[in-house]
Amino acid sequence: MPKMQEPKNERPTSLYFVPEENLIACDDLTALPYLYDETVLECITARYFTNTIYTWAGPILVAVNPFKSINGLYSDQKISKVFTLLKEGHDHQDPHVFTVAGLAHKRLTSEIGLVNQAILVSGESGAGKTESARFLLTYLTQVEDDSSCITDTSVLHRPEDIKNKILASNPILEAFGNAATLRNHNSSRFGKLIRLQYSQNVLKGASLDTYLLEKTRVTSQPSQERNFHIFYQLLSGIINGYVEGIEVDEEISFNIMPGLDNRDFKQDLLYFKETQKAFRKIGIPNNIEKDIYRVVAAIMFLGNISFQPSSDSESWTFSTNEVSQKSLARACHLLRVTKETLQNTFTKKKISVSLGKETSVIYKYFEREDQCEERRDALMQFLYISLFNYLVDAINSKICDNSSSHYSYLGILDIYGFEAFDENSLEQLCINYTNERLHHEFTRRYIASEHKVLIEEGFMDIPFVYVDNTICIKALDSPISVFSILNEECQLKRVLNEDDACLRVCNALQNTGVVTPAVSRRNSGFLIKHYAGNVSYNSSGLLHKNKDDLPLDVISVLTESSCEFISSFSTRSRKEEIERNENQGRKSVRKITTLSKFKSSLDSLINILGYCDLHYVRCLKPNSRNTAGNPDKSFLLEQLKSNGILETVKISQAGYPVRMLYMDFVKRYSFQRKQDFNEKEITYVILAELYGVDENGHPPEQKCRFGKTRIFLSESCLHQLEEHRSYQ
Ligand code: ATP
Ligand code: MG
Repeated sequence: MPKMQEPKNERPTSLYFVPEENLIACDDLTALPYLYDETVLECITARYFTNTIYTWAGPILVAVNPFKSINGLYSDQKISKVFTLLKEGHDHQDPHVFTVAGLAHKRLTSEIGLVNQAILVSGESGAGKTESARFLLTYLTQVEDDSSCITDTSVLHRPEDIKNKILASNPILEAFGNAATLRNHNSSRFGKLIRLQYSQNVLKGASLDTYLLEKTRVTSQPSQERNFHIFYQLLSGIINGYVEGIEVDEEISFNIMPGLDNRDFKQDLLYFKETQKAFRKIGIPNNIEKDIYRVVAAIMFLGNISFQPSSDSESWTFSTNEVSQKSLARACHLLRVTKETLQNTFTKKKISVSLGKETSVIYKYFEREDQCEERRDALMQFLYISLFNYLVDAINSKICDNSSSHYSYLGILDIYGFEAFDENSLEQLCINYTNERLHHEFTRRYIASEHKVLIEEGFMDIPFVYVDNTICIKALDSPISVFSILNEECQLKRVLNEDDACLRVCNALQNTGVVTPAVSRRNSGFLIKHYAGNVSYNSSGLLHKNKDDLPLDVISVLTESSCEFISSFSTRSRKEEIERNENQGRKSVRKITTLSKFKSSLDSLINILGYCDLHYVRCLKPNSRNTAGNPDKSFLLEQLKSNGILETVKISQAGYPVRMLYMDFVKRYSFQRKQDFNEKEITYVILAELYGVDENGHPPEQKCRFGKTRIFLSESCLHQLEEHRSYQ
């Protein structure tokens, strides 16, 4: 049997021990002659300088954001080429995002592995996830697995309605879910899984799931960042006469829309027209489109409403300031509610009082301005999230094919990468928890299994170190965990004390070694040792955001709206709440928190992925300034470590992507009974017949290797065997 390759332990003396041209030519990091972080880094950057942004890392595609367009990289010809080559069996192609799409698509239709496929696109903000997901979708909506190769590019553009609708979902979701941030001018503020539905290898439709929209951005934006694109798009549409029935004064500014200073609406107008076009392509009726704009505009005006003390000085009322008054009138008009309705909701709260058997309702005026502002903000956020959810449902109703329950699907997951800022809150906790779970899935499915199998098969007796993040996940979501404690604190009927809650977290979990107290400049909190690095979470706002209390009287504003589209938001929210309670079998009214909601949506995501073959695109940002051609090596190295690329490279080098038990191999590829041989020997004979033997008497090592119980094959070997089989 062939010998294992010895690991190369000698550390090179110079970083440039591999000639640059060899590094550029090396399109798979696992094929590097020396495996050190520096070599991997040198290879990626050397290729990047020649506009070669993609490199394989074994099964993973590494993509470095070029921050510029590269001629022909995503042309129709490129799609045709990838498709045709894959069809001819050349699975080992140049690293490219189209190749990943093509391989997943091919697997969907093959007999090997699971039927369903998922492509996980990850990376930090601005690394190019959404762009990559867009290219994946472009490929998949342009190719059909019919028997004719699409070398004729005229068949690429089939005027098929469903494909256009699927593609049209993107501009809508980006308008409502993306915003310009310091890290990315088009940052997705939600996670997205789109599952393309296939029946007999034909694309029939798609379904969309979204995760954790950053709704706080509606009412407050981090310094130098913008609100969601749609606000700016709509404003430019209104000012330029593209929207009927909504008036704005040319010079008005909106508190929730920073970045309006230069009033250059050209770009926003272009995008607005794209959003409008997408609404039409997808089939949103004209009257609904108008309702959607009305809600967005209402939120803009609500944000300009301010408060002042009433004449009795004991309560608050709407400010008499002109902007506030005008905005109030416009918001009421757009929402189809009266000024009194808003006044009642924003300045006082309803309290139920029990007197013996009787319960009566009294109103208590707020004593502080921030209490009124909180009410206003809650309404704005509720309106926006309801609108976003409405859009996701509307898109699903247009693109999802429900005519069969026997689809196979190909999913593309574009989800936020690991985040560690100076100040981190509940949003980062959810995002980093997501990354822990996805990393775990990756480790479990790939690195750990690879390692285990190689050892079992006698290929690898050297210890291999990888980050097992089970302990961290347990510390986050088990019955005694960060989540459980923060949830419990939100159930208690007492004033929330966020510092105490964090102290409880630290005390309860100190033995895990994963959670420790953290004191930031401003607040106390806790620090979590994530697989990708340490993150300190601030106590401030943690419970508040987790409780996500939406007072019923805020929702009831919408019940009073004479516009059916708007009033349906409140009915829907109540229905969902009841359903969730029923699903969770809760008899008592236990509060559903942000964390509990998020965890259950993530559980179902992981469950979906469990039924899929997984493919990975890891996006890297070359530098933090978002500029072309300036790779920052230490910045890149951090990302290579945090997204598991280095670990993968180290273990993949010894591995082969396809492996089969000898028994299965013989069943599939042996056509003559060879009575005197055992299954391993039969496998040996078949492969020796196919490839001949080397000086040691074995079939070539680059094609196959013989383990104790199974045969390890390269992709090309598998293809040859399959071809051979089809001739028998
Ligand atoms: P976020 O997590 O903030 O949503 P992201 O990873 O989705 O970030 P993208 O929005 O996909 O990042 O990419 C950021 C920007 O980088 C794009 O707007 C585009 O300008 C540029 N970019 C990304 N990928 C490519 C590419 N393949 N070719 C050219 N430019 C690209
Ligand atoms: Mg994005």
